[in-house]
Amino acid sequence: MKNRASRDHELGMHRSITRRDFLNGIAVSAGGAMASSWLPTLLSAQATSGSPPGAQDAPGYYPPLLTGMRGSHPGAFETAHEVRDGDFWQAAPKPVDTGETFDLVVVGGGMSGLAAAYFYRKQAGAAARILILDNHDDFGGHAKRNEFRPGGRLLLTNGGTVAIESPFPYSKEARGLLTELGIDPPAFEKKYAGAEPYRGLGFGYFFDKETFGAERLVTGAPGGFRQGGNGSKWADFLAKTPLSAEAQQSIVRIQEDKIDYMEGIPQAEKKARLVRMSYKDFLLKIVKAHPDVIPFYQTRTHGLYGIGIDAVPALDCWAIHFPGFQGMGLDRVPSKGLTFTALGEVTPQEEYHFHFPDGNASIARLLVRSLVPGSAPGSTAEDIVTAKMDYSRLDRAESPVRIRLSSTAVAVHHVGDAASAKQVDVVYARDQKTYSVRAKGTVLACWNMVIPYICPDLPAGQKQALHYGVKVPLVYTVVQIRNWKAFQKLGIRGVSSPGMYHSSINLDQAVNIGDYKSPQSPDDPILIHMLRTPCQPGLSAREQQRAGHYDLLATSFETFERNIRDQLARVLGAGGFDPVRDIEAITVNRWPHGYAYEYNPLWDPDWPKGKRPCDIARRRFGRITIANSDAAAAAYTDQAIDQGYRSVQELFSS
Ligand SMILES: Cc1cc2nc3c(=O)[nH]c(=O)nc-3n(C[C@H](O)[C@H](O)[C@H](O)COP(=O)(O)OP(=O)(O)OC[C@H]3O[C@@H](n4cnc5c(N)ncnc54)[C@H](O)[C@@H]3O)c2cc1C
Repeated sequence: MKNRASRDHELGMHRSITRRDFLNGIAVSAGGAMASSWLPTLLSAQATSGSPPGAQDAPGYYPPLLTGMRGSHPGAFETAHEVRDGDFWQAAPKPVDTGETFDLVVVGGGMSGLAAAYFYRKQAGAAARILILDNHDDFGGHAKRNEFRPGGRLLLTNGGTVAIESPFPYSKEARGLLTELGIDPPAFEKKYAGAEPYRGLGFGYFFDKETFGAERLVTGAPGGFRQGGNGSKWADFLAKTPLSAEAQQSIVRIQEDKIDYMEGIPQAEKKARLVRMSYKDFLLKIVKAHPDVIPFYQTRTHGLYGIGIDAVPALDCWAIHFPGFQGMGLDRVPSKGLTFTALGEVTPQEEYHFHFPDGNASIARLLVRSLVPGSAPGSTAEDIVTAKMDYSRLDRAESPVRIRLSSTAVAVHHVGDAASAKQVDVVYARDQKTYSVRAKGTVLACWNMVIPYICPDLPAGQKQALHYGVKVPLVYTVVQIRNWKAFQKLGIRGVSSPGMYHSSINLDQAVNIGDYKSPQSPDDPILIHMLRTPCQPGLSAREQQRAGHYDLLATSFETFERNIRDQLARVLGAGGFDPVRDIEAITVNRWPHGYAYEYNPLWDPDWPKGKRPCDIARRRFGRITIANSDAAAAAYTDQAIDQGYRSVQELFSS
């Protein structure tokens, strides 16, 4: 048997791939312990006339180009965790008053916070002074841009949020915001359709020996990953897999047969039962499938839900077109008990699939260009794609709207009593110092579970409600490879690998827009996306998410890299892929606090209207209002925008 060192060598662990964890020459601590030395003796409280410059003010600062551990990157979260653990104030220096006063301070520079700033300025006028604080080294929250430059050529992809389309139609306000930014998704879909370099390539499954007993890539998967079936092809496809004969028969039945597994039961009762059981239980107990089918289906819900089929209701899986229900006579109409996402699937709406090459980072960049004049060249939704942002413009005194990065809000208090206060004090930590600023109002567009720690004056019931949801952890790994000849040779553009570290591997979706051209030839360098959800079947959804959160923060980049190299070598090896030669850069977009928690009937009560935790959690508290997608309990861009809008209306009407 090979030892670890020789396997590492075969995988190229010794290769110095592009892994830039450096911003302006300052190493971002790999262990993530960067912000823990709060030496009170270093600082004394003093008034300054403005905030001192940060890394973002230096020429050349450009975080989209960073690779290595991104998303929740080292240096972004440690302060917030110290606040959570009650350690922060023991060692933190007394805040320095920057002397700055704003009309509005927004905590959180994601889609919701940027939208809140946009709506506020629209209503208050161009002179409104707004400060946006975010703990990351880049703006956009989950809507982050990953940029690569192999041989000088620009390759873009999303580090998080990609799709503009949402389960429900956009509200007037959210659609209006897109329109004002120049984004018309259905029109863009028509205009920019046609970048189809993967014509003729299909999907495959990789069966790893640890899970399935034998190792095999089987291509030509019928119907992709999520859809029901495709004629009689399943039996032929399955015959090539290492699955047992019994499992194969069960899968053919699940995919193709039209059987009513609840015959004689009225439709409403069928649906009510399917709401209360997981898809896994549906397959095992109702369909009576062979248990060997479970590893084959287990990860199918990972991308959309961040958890496996053990924790997603069967009726949701019916709504999102999973197989097994085709003979059950269930009408595709909105049905009680569906989660937000699944309800949207059965609600008719205009469909489009247009997305920007960097996903919704383009929307964040358009918002920033509008908010901070001079931060990016150009004037259209197309030219933002290739525009180079000038980060040094984001926090200048002459700009009414300012964005201060690497700045974690640690305390938000009214100046006086919440009911009558006219101002709010916001304290933030940056570069191991703390600063305070004042504002007439504050929108907390950060995550719900952060808010009770930084705003401890909130009513106890509201704090409890803010703690309820547990955000869904997930990882979007992006790998820059030398070319995609191996994919071409194997006839695939994507692989489902349900037993492996990353449960799927896909060539980046191609979009050509403005001056941006996605790779067209298999000889071109390209980006691949790999999905990992660190869930732990057997626990409740919220417990799985908590466990996954800790798992992600405890996993080093080296462990990710080893698993990525191993997986790509095994899955693509037969196509000639060599990890030593072909892997050129790796970015692990790690999101321990990913999707907003959506209520799920398997794990959550059926609250009366207006009494869900998110309804209670988002109540206005004096001059402090609450935005972000957690406030809607729905992980979507339009929801984040809508919450930004509501939070601003509440400030104006208070
Ligand atoms: C991997 C991934 C993929 C997704 N894909 C899609 C998709 O395709 N389509 C879609 O519609 N939605 C998608 N989402 C959901 C996405 O969360 C929402 O669409 C939306 O971007 C959320 O915006 P937000 O502003 O509410 O939250 P965020 O984007 O999370 O922004 C909140 C910001 O506040 C910051 N913050 C937190 N605490 C503090 C503090 N104390 N001080 C300062 N800053 C703080 C956070 O770090 C973050 O930067 C995806 C999410 C993830 C994680």
